[in-house]
Amino acid sequence: MSNVTHLVCVACGATYPEGPVLTCPTCGPEEGILDVRYDLAKAGRTLDRKSLAGRPRSIWRYGELLPVNDPEHPPVAHVGWTPVLEGPRLAAALGVGRLRLKDEGRSASNSFKDRASAIGVARAIQQGQSAIACASTGNAATSLAHCAAVAGIRAYIFVPRQVPEGKLAQLLAYGATVFRVRGSYADAYALCTEACAAFGWYNRNCAVNPYLIEGKKTGGLELGEQCADDPPDWVACSVGDGCSIAGIAKGLAEMKALGISQQAPRMLGVQAAGVAPIAAAFETGRLRRGGDGTTYADSINVAVPRNWRKAVNGVRESQGAYVTVTDGEIMRAVGLCGRLAGVFAEPAAAAAVAGVAVARHRGIINERADVVVMITGNGLKDVPGALRALGQPYDVRPDLSDVAGVLKRTSSENPSETH
Ligand SMILES: *Cc1c(COP(=O)(O)O)cnc(C)c1O
Ligand SMILES: [Zn+2]
Repeated sequence: MSNVTHLVCVACGATYPEGPVLTCPTCGPEEGILDVRYDLAKAGRTLDRKSLAGRPRSIWRYGELLPVNDPEHPPVAHVGWTPVLEGPRLAAALGVGRLRLKDEGRSASNSFKDRASAIGVARAIQQGQSAIACASTGNAATSLAHCAAVAGIRAYIFVPRQVPEGKLAQLLAYGATVFRVRGSYADAYALCTEACAAFGWYNRNCAVNPYLIEGKKTGGLELGEQCADDPPDWVACSVGDGCSIAGIAKGLAEMKALGISQQAPRMLGVQAAGVAPIAAAFETGRLRRGGDGTTYADSINVAVPRNWRKAVNGVRESQGAYVTVTDGEIMRAVGLCGRLAGVFAEPAAAAAVAGVAVARHRGIINERADVVVMITGNGLKDVPGALRALGQPYDVRPDLSDVAGVLKRTSSENPSETH
């Protein structure tokens, strides 16, 4: 059995035993998001640096802190243990002392969402279900389709019309049944919820399923372990629904509580300026609905975030901060990240890099700061989005003089940050 003791409502504090309740009945499905709690003392009896040394390099190494009964025999193969890469030239360009990138773009389906989906599929199988569903604009869906394909269960995916083609191709490649809903994301979400109830599918929508954030928590557990001997001052992560940053903060805090790492870093939440309800709620303590802004970073284009309380609390408890970045700053960060660190980030991931620049500029972090940036998704997921940021190649005739001409024209535009 798992070490889960109970679930706590983040709105009213009521507690519930592990069971069929997914959201607090008093606060309702919108506000009554639950948080999973563990017997940390019990977990700490077997989870320490020494025992970790011999375990598989995947999320399942943290079995004591996962809401699954048999983490040693997980139904899903390899998710987790992505590399932490040094980016000295990117650090210099951003004006910080040290910058490391945790490259989740190298995960199985190329995004941070794999961590949540692995737990979702494990829980579905544990409950004897053979089908799992979600509504998503992209990475949540592709990661679910991937994990379901590995485990051999059916995935039903509801996407809105404007889903990036790379992500759509992944869904079809992993053999998911894809419903392209003629309507908005909200329509797709509502239809998925109805279908789960009608057909008895396991619902992977992060909003109502408190266990998925425990998968995202492994990003923080892992980072805490990988940086145990030289923890960063700050961890930057882009924020849409709020589930990722809250999970990472929770994982880092648990690693400190267990004594595996010495220090829990401060969290820097980064939202797109056009869609920043959580950054605003961090200031006011309340969520204001109904903004009509937008951002080209589709994975964080979330106007009504469900996990805003966890995202606000996680950052606050870490003594962290929120910043917002414009689409122009995000586009510039896509190029910086690739050129100066060799990591091709999708726009929503590059937003975190842009956020470090903004936080530095605003004096939130200083010039000596040691920062880890979560690169939450791979740039190949959204090729048109990347090209909008990166521009076009030089068109030349098959003639050396054209090449020489381009070199001459471009030798003047050589800002110091490029080398
Ligand atoms: C989902 C996602 C995020 C944000 O995660 P939330 O849990 O929605 O806050 C950031 N970057 C990428 C690439 C994502 O797919
Ligand atoms: Zn409640």
